Amino acid sequence: MGTDSERLMLLQQVLGGLNVGAIVLDAERRIVLWNHWMARRTGRSADSVAGSDLLAVFPELRGQRAEAAVTQALHNNFPSLLSQSLNKAPFPLYASAAAAARGERVQQAVEVTPIAVTGAARHCLIQINDVSLAVGRERLLREQTMVLRSQTFADGLTGIANRRHFDMAIEKEHRRARRGGVPLSLLMIDIDNFKAYNDHYGHPQGDQCLIRVAAALAAMLKRPCDLVARYGGEEFAAILPDTDSEQAWQMAEAIRLRTIELAIPHLPGADGQLVTVSLGIATRHADGSADAAGLISAADRALYQAKRDGRNRVAAQALA
Ligand code: GH3
Ligand code: MG
Ligand code: MG
Repeated sequence: MGTDSERLMLLQQVLGGLNVGAIVLDAERRIVLWNHWMARRTGRSADSVAGSDLLAVFPELRGQRAEAAVTQALHNNFPSLLSQSLNKAPFPLYASAAAAARGERVQQAVEVTPIAVTGAARHCLIQINDVSLAVGRERLLREQTMVLRSQTFADGLTGIANRRHFDMAIEKEHRRARRGGVPLSLLMIDIDNFKAYNDHYGHPQGDQCLIRVAAALAAMLKRPCDLVARYGGEEFAAILPDTDSEQAWQMAEAIRLRTIELAIPHLPGADGQLVTVSLGIATRHADGSADAAGLISAADRALYQAKRDGRNRVAAQALA
């Protein structure tokens, strides 16, 4: 290694090139070192802050965690990591003049370390890392996860809950009904003669019909605890918590009539020439013993009966 002054120049170059903010304070909390990273993000040169009290340069730090951390380092020889969750940007640092104008601070991870040099009063080093990118990436990931999660539970065509969502919800609502000693009803809803509709109007228009019926169902089942799902191709299911057989019948009739009101033309001669639905109801009474699978198969049997009895109607099955 060369002379002391060569070493000092090398040290300054290293500090200048660091991709982290570095401030060194003396025992009186005066700034003795301020690297280029700090100058760029504060708009203040090392010369303009040298010898100043840290709190004179950053008055807003007074009474904050950062001030306490510096005191801990200088007086008690204690290192500190400032918690990101408490304050994401304790120092007023900005990536650019434009960011400063918008008041958009660099997000920071701050570390305060005591430096003890033999024979000299204690100093401390403040290191500041820009974690804005990491924080942004984290937020993006969180948002994407939420979108993905909602997609895994939604039917791609109609946007209502899918079969997977239904399977989870029926188990959950069944447990809740058993625990709470309240009734639980299930409706199975199937479009009548839909194969003929598809064959006549084509698959794309069949899809449009499914979308319209699904939207009508969703609009009718608005209690937050209700769930309407696409159970299969042209079959829907509605879970109605805390709903007895009489209320379920009323809801089923309302759905049947609402579907007719949609006035979607069907083949001449097929059930009054409009698209209609058949509905099967199963209700687990407050003190019932049926499990979720039993509820589903009873609603299925009721639907089958409604079809057999001529379609565009409601049928209910008693539960064992
Ligand atoms: P039923 O009154 O007894 O219910 O008669 P159906 O013709 O409605 O019943 P079936 O089960 O024989 O036919 C269902 C048809 O639904 C068959 C299929 O072409 C159609 N389908 C199922 N899924 C979709 C879909 O996602 N889009 C479209 N366009 N059609 C579908
Ligand atoms: Mg059908
Ligand atoms: Mg069907």
